[in-house]
Amino acid sequence: MLQENSSTANLVEVIPLSGFNKALAYAVPATCTATVELGSLVRIPLRGRSELGVVIQLGSGQDIAPEKLKMLYEVVQEYPVLTADLLELYQWAQKYYATTPEAMLEAMIPTAIRRGMKPKTRLYVAMGQTPTQEQWSVLEKRAPKQAELLRFVQQQICAQARAPLLKRMGISASACESLVKKNYLIETQTEEAREAYADDLSQLETIASDTRPTLTSEQALAVDNLHAAISADTFAVRLLHGVTGSGKTEVYLHAVEKVVAEKGGVIFLVPEVALAPQTVGRVRARLEARGVRTVVWHSHLSDGERYDAWKALASGEAHVVVGARSAVFAPVQNLKLVIVDEEHEPSYKQDDNPRYHGRDVAVYRAHLNSAICIVGSATPSLETLYNVERGKYAVDRILNRVDNRKLPRIHLVDMRREGLSGRRKGSPISSLLADHLVDRYEKKEQSILFLNRRGFSTSLLCPDCGFVAECEHCSIPMTYHRTDKTIRCHLCGLEQKAPHSCPKCKASEIRYRGQGTQKIEDVVQRILPRARIVRMDADSMSKKNLYRKILNDFRIGKIDILVGTQMIAKGLDFPNVTLVGLVDADRSLHVEDFRAAERTFQLIVQVSGRAGRGDRAGEVVIQTSTPHAPPIQFARKSDFDGFQLEELEQRREFNYPPFQHLIRHLFRGRNPEKVEFYMEQWTQQVSRHFGDRIVIRGPAPAPIAKIRDEYRYQLWYFVPSAQAVIDSLVALREDFKMDRTVVDQMDVDAMHMS
Ligand code: ADP
Ligand code: ZN
Repeated sequence: MLQENSSTANLVEVIPLSGFNKALAYAVPATCTATVELGSLVRIPLRGRSELGVVIQLGSGQDIAPEKLKMLYEVVQEYPVLTADLLELYQWAQKYYATTPEAMLEAMIPTAIRRGMKPKTRLYVAMGQTPTQEQWSVLEKRAPKQAELLRFVQQQICAQARAPLLKRMGISASACESLVKKNYLIETQTEEAREAYADDLSQLETIASDTRPTLTSEQALAVDNLHAAISADTFAVRLLHGVTGSGKTEVYLHAVEKVVAEKGGVIFLVPEVALAPQTVGRVRARLEARGVRTVVWHSHLSDGERYDAWKALASGEAHVVVGARSAVFAPVQNLKLVIVDEEHEPSYKQDDNPRYHGRDVAVYRAHLNSAICIVGSATPSLETLYNVERGKYAVDRILNRVDNRKLPRIHLVDMRREGLSGRRKGSPISSLLADHLVDRYEKKEQSILFLNRRGFSTSLLCPDCGFVAECEHCSIPMTYHRTDKTIRCHLCGLEQKAPHSCPKCKASEIRYRGQGTQKIEDVVQRILPRARIVRMDADSMSKKNLYRKILNDFRIGKIDILVGTQMIAKGLDFPNVTLVGLVDADRSLHVEDFRAAERTFQLIVQVSGRAGRGDRAGEVVIQTSTPHAPPIQFARKSDFDGFQLEELEQRREFNYPPFQHLIRHLFRGRNPEKVEFYMEQWTQQVSRHFGDRIVIRGPAPAPIAKIRDEYRYQLWYFVPSAQAVIDSLVALREDFKMDRTVVDQMDVDAMHMS
């Protein structure tokens, strides 16, 4: 119970991390007054239980009867889990992304930290008071084991780690304790950093050596501009728009070095750490050579490693973090620079709650810190390009590759014509691509073949009646797995034996269609029976060591041809690759997504960028059935400005982003009539309430109309500013009553359309 003389000065407001979604006032006990800070993680009594919460305000305006006021129990972590800028970022992001306080806080604070993870400590023993001759003999007679231990410790120069010592000598803990009691031994506790990088990333990092190339003139100009921006010490965003192989990483590194030299903090974001080991390795090699500790932040860290990484940043011991999306929330002190590499990557947008965009959050966080944000890409998003056009972002362009290497020559193969008259009619590999593969193999150069698809799906198809095996719970085709002759749904996991005959018309000719990586591998193997071909598929992606081993083997030339999806394209830099083939360039064009053209353009430019990164020029073969589609033509000519101009024009005409913000509102439930009913009601409410401030499209079934027996419908809101409507939209939604069996979710600035 709180003392009577409590003033609001020792009250704090806390957001519990247990679904309360509201700030509550607590009194601070005397034992904690020195340690409670803004952003502290605290343990609080709530509904008769002990819960965790974050202090979001010192003092409280809440009017609470003194007898109702509870006292918080303790401060959990010695550093605030949210720094001042992160608290502000939290306030903004929670509202902007229409999410709950709790979900946002959970995304911002790593689980290990929330669980109250503590530093790993180790007990050491060292010599205390030396026994007299007489005491020695007593000890040797009565407790020979104790004496043995004491003798050993006495002979050592430094303190010994207790546990391994006792184990080695076969001596019990109690023997040690009685020596401590007698003051012969002194025990000390030392905090110990876990082997924070003992994960398999280190393997690739050793490859990255710290060479310092002389900057090209374009790189040097970009670096000068960035250095000037950093010196100006005010918020600015700069786009680094450099063609593939133009040495963007080198430019980032020069910016990082300047900031670090001035004791500033840096966040370096990559689309996914596991897919960008080379970039991560290069950053670390460079900085560590200068004695700067770099913390790596990725999803494979153990709780202990996460804690150590977190603490190194929170304590200010380390200033630089390299990581994926969530590293944008890392507790970096004195943040001066945020880098978002490959800023166009959709993986920066989180696909579940909270649906934040890592790049946009990065820009906002830089803004809060008067820091510089560099967004970099060979194929910037149209959102970013538009911000450049409007003068919100500055731009540095690098039009040439380093060492004047040429951009690869791009050949287009019209697969329709190839299908009619080509020498390899009906094959997924055209004669041109086949010839080039053979040529490279004979010259002992390497090739990569890309499939334009996310999964590796092949579906079962009946050639007679057109039946496609679809999941009974989800509206997607089942995937055929050749290894165990099953068909599986990759959304709900349903697994069935693959049928021998068509379940519908009983035809026995049922076969699988689609060009999985397996199929391509087989076809290429038939063209080049002796070539060493390796496939990167779902299996090798999940087993991270295998993935790394394959990349390593490829690097050292043990593999001639690598087959995989565009997932593996990110950041690969292999000098001996002189041929890249894109097997099915169109696939990304024919999806229900207004960004389809943008994605296709980016895909072709990015995969092409993997070719010709060494001394020899590269060639690219793009197979397509729509060779005249604008994104394919612009990409072939590497005409970035042409593509941007035309695509922006299209977007402007149809009021798509970047000209309007897009909010996707999805409703789902087992009963489709109910879902539709509530959507109709809701849609009417929105149009009544907002009038023409929100342009509504829908409701309509989502592209994947059913997942796990839940029917999915969606609405699109087109708004000039999401910021301007989101609060009232959320408030309106809170007052709208729906059956509990219907669930909805809003996605602000949606990127994922399924
Ligand atoms: P990007 O990210 O723009 O595609 P990278 O940063 O991966 O390009 O650089 C491509 C390659 O060029 C890397 O191997 C890098 O070490 C090398 N490189 C970068 N800058 C220079 C330079 N000025 N001179 C020589 N090589 C360079
Ligand atoms: Zn399913």
